[in-house]
Amino acid sequence: MKVLKFGGTSVGYASRMKDVARLINDGQEKIVVLSAMSGTTNTLVEIADYLHKRNIHAASETINALQQKYRTHVDELYDTDACREQAWEIITGVFDQIRSLAKDMFTLYEEKIILAQGEIISTNMFNIYLHEQGINSVLLPALDFVRTDKDAEPDMDYIKENLRRVMAEHGKADIYVTQGYICRNIYNEIDNLQRGGSDYTASLVGAAIGAEEVQIWTDIDGLHNNDPRVVEHTFPVRRLNFDEAAELAYFGAKILHPTCVQPAKSANIPVRLLNTMEPDAPGTLISNDTERGKIKAVAVKDDITAIKIKSSRMLLAYGFLRKIFEIFESYHTSIDVVCTSEVSVSMSVDNTKNLDEIVSDLKKYGNVEVDTNLCTVCVVGDMNYDNVGFEARIVDAMRNIPVRMISYGGSRYNMTFLIKAEDKVRALQSLNEKLFNIA
Ligand code: ASP
Ligand code: MG
Repeated sequence: MKVLKFGGTSVGYASRMKDVARLINDGQEKIVVLSAMSGTTNTLVEIADYLHKRNIHAASETINALQQKYRTHVDELYDTDACREQAWEIITGVFDQIRSLAKDMFTLYEEKIILAQGEIISTNMFNIYLHEQGINSVLLPALDFVRTDKDAEPDMDYIKENLRRVMAEHGKADIYVTQGYICRNIYNEIDNLQRGGSDYTASLVGAAIGAEEVQIWTDIDGLHNNDPRVVEHTFPVRRLNFDEAAELAYFGAKILHPTCVQPAKSANIPVRLLNTMEPDAPGTLISNDTERGKIKAVAVKDDITAIKIKSSRMLLAYGFLRKIFEIFESYHTSIDVVCTSEVSVSMSVDNTKNLDEIVSDLKKYGNVEVDTNLCTVCVVGDMNYDNVGFEARIVDAMRNIPVRMISYGGSRYNMTFLIKAEDKVRALQSLNEKLFNIA
């Protein structure tokens, strides 16, 4: 059985939902994971923000406007009034619940219930549409089988056992529809797998049932060799291994959520990135196979800050790095790239919420410098150190770019540069020319 995930834009309009229904209706049994219709989760976040600030008026206007949008979607999606009514009844119930949560004390608990509603609506609408088209589908509530543990990580054993149970309870169907992103936590409260988490759900579900393949459907023809928003003449990469995909996803390739890689990789289930606009295109296949010695792609992550600490005493005395890292840990700030010399350490972060506090704590150990407005450029491929020459090619492509940090050797799969944001386009273009022979 395959697991197919469709993101917010793939189900963003009634017409797109109909396309998805056509696409999946091929007589093969499958599980379909859906996101909320595009824009919905952002609007739900906005509503929750208003409610946290007790701005009831703005919240209720936003709630009404969102419900109104769904009126149009429902009118456009169905052929029959019976299905329109059925869907509208569910949607009205959802919005009534949101309004009732707005009445009393508003905490994180209520916020998470609100954030879950986008996927609940989209999957119900879709399932009713499938029934209207005569397709034998059932809706499997993700809240009945996706659960996180005490560390807020997905509980794979629980998911396996309960997905099986829920499927058995619902009886045989051709298409099982379920919600991405939403789950319950260890306290059985409604929670989520973080923004963009539907990819993660698909991978978890795929691993749980030992799927033949997990497919992530978006509106681009696979993962590109370079950032198509920044440079022209990029092309889809046909094959990646899981580690390469994880580096690219983490370092800025927006098409795949980084958390999605791990469950599929451990269960050895290939993940295919496909395009709803061009369903027959091959897309990108991510698996445990590595294409030897090939540089695959470049990704870029913006808004990066570098922090350097230079010690007056002998810096790399044992225990020093631990002390430095503990400061970041205490402010829940993760470090992306690290470079060390005998007397200083440079680190990059993308979260600068607690930067001032971090810098002031670091000053206990030495002289601290901060560089802002940087970006990380990450070159990914099979860079096992036995393969010679690739470092020279990559560095040569960067010959005219001022480089703040270089990192290689942390994994076999990437070489990463920190450069000024203003040099980003030039760097990506040059890498495109020199590594992929594209002018
Ligand atoms: N709807 C959620 C979000 O917008 C999850 C997802 O789309 O993957 O973040
Ligand atoms: Mg997404």
